[in-house]
Amino acid sequence: MLVVPMLSEALAVIDHQVLGWHLAGPRLVFQIGSTARRPCCPRCHNSRVRRHGHYQRHPSDLPSFGTPVTLDVEVRRWRCMAPGCGGHTFSDSMGSFVQPRSRYSVRSRVALEHLGCTSGGQAGARLSWSLGLRAGADTILRAVHALPPPAIGEPLVVGIDDWALARGHHYGTIFVDLQQHRPLDLIAGREMTEVRDWLAQHPGIRVVARDRAGAYGQATRQALRERTAIPP
Ligand SMILES: [Zn+2]
Repeated sequence: MLVVPMLSEALAVIDHQVLGWHLAGPRLVFQIGSTARRPCCPRCHNSRVRRHGHYQRHPSDLPSFGTPVTLDVEVRRWRCMAPGCGGHTFSDSMGSFVQPRSRYSVRSRVALEHLGCTSGGQAGARLSWSLGLRAGADTILRAVHALPPPAIGEPLVVGIDDWALARGHHYGTIFVDLQQHRPLDLIAGREMTEVRDWLAQHPGIRVVARDRAGAYGQATRQALRERTAIPP
């Protein structure tokens, strides 16, 4: 076993260890193996499993002193021997360190997300190569697009206006967060009760900007008695 600071500790958490390393062109390659003796079947949680071969994975990890790092991981495959499990086969898991089928460790993927969010695809890709992460613009953009949307807090300042479902015939109402500059909701009608009920469901709203429609004014007055409504 080889102790590599910042890598061995992370691998120990998921029952893996560094077995060796070598240079392959511009890359630093660490051989990684599991330390778990025999896993339990993830389907039936039985420990009656038999070795069923192995394969190699090569995810990229964070660079070391600017040198790109690749992990050469031996992934063991297992077959469950428990009656009733149907000979289920499964592989060693790298848990939260490398997600299944990912080409990057979780921590290097987080670094790519930061690059994408701050610099965009093309500039982020150029930065990633200079830093030793070596990702293309498509990879960085995919990482950013896979991020969960930011949590939307309770709006404070809301704009209300109508929008045409069928111009001249049927109109709905749009609610916009005027601080975040993003739409909050669409409803199919513009009746006073519909708008009032929507506003009542958002007790954090303090200021409403609305157009001259009488229904909007009435809805705002009823729902936000103690709040501030801005007429046009
Ligand atoms: Zn099983």
